[in-house]
Amino acid sequence: MIINILHLYPKNMNLYGDHGNMLALKRRLEWRGYEVNVIHHDPGDELPEDIDIIFGGGGQDSGQTVVEDDLKIIAPKLKEFIENGTPTLVICGLYQLFGNKFVTYEGHEIEGAHILDISTTGGEVRLIGNVLIDTPDFGEVVGYENHSGLTYLGDGVKPLGTVITGDGNNGKDKTEGVIYKNCIGTYLHGPILPKNPKITDFLISKAIEKKTGKAEALKELDDTIELKAHEVSSKRPR
Ligand code: GLN
Repeated sequence: MIINILHLYPKNMNLYGDHGNMLALKRRLEWRGYEVNVIHHDPGDELPEDIDIIFGGGGQDSGQTVVEDDLKIIAPKLKEFIENGTPTLVICGLYQLFGNKFVTYEGHEIEGAHILDISTTGGEVRLIGNVLIDTPDFGEVVGYENHSGLTYLGDGVKPLGTVITGDGNNGKDKTEGVIYKNCIGTYLHGPILPKNPKITDFLISKAIEKKTGKAEALKELDDTIELKAHEVSSKRPR
């Protein structure tokens, strides 16, 4: 079986090892005997019809401005995929842009894709450092954040987790990220997936379930190294 992963804007949106998320997805699929086809989408490219997993990373405000116009074009199609349950992970810069809007600290308003019911405003201070959150779906999740944007969630989404260490969505309400259908948005770089294999496997199992029409348990993998990395990260000071 071939799993098609759409990688959104790899040239402009890729910070703090975000690309490692693609490697983690690819390897964990291959270790279970699936073939992986990675489709890069850069501004101006045509969006393919057959997509099993969507991934997009973070970026500077300038990178977000570069992809803004293209995102407007593909937003309705992306929304359709996510409404239909396509497993998706968007980090920081693209997490913000999947929302309603991002107003940068300089006052430039970037319209979002209106997929996630969130809105972001650039703050004066950058929120930087190691993060540990508690999530109902994946237990403790570790990562690293660096953003000026402060994100507030609307009624249509629930947070991915509650902040234990770090600032999360806005440094105030203790929420971090969102989960909507099978779409996860988060500020966590790191990259997040290699150190949090439960999230990787969530995306993989939803992709396979959607493709085959039946929910199946994934083949167990030896996660000794991944769990060790998780443990080391979870003990890092802010
Ligand atoms: N430019 C955005 C911000 O600073 C996103 C940064 C990122 O993706 N790390 O809020």
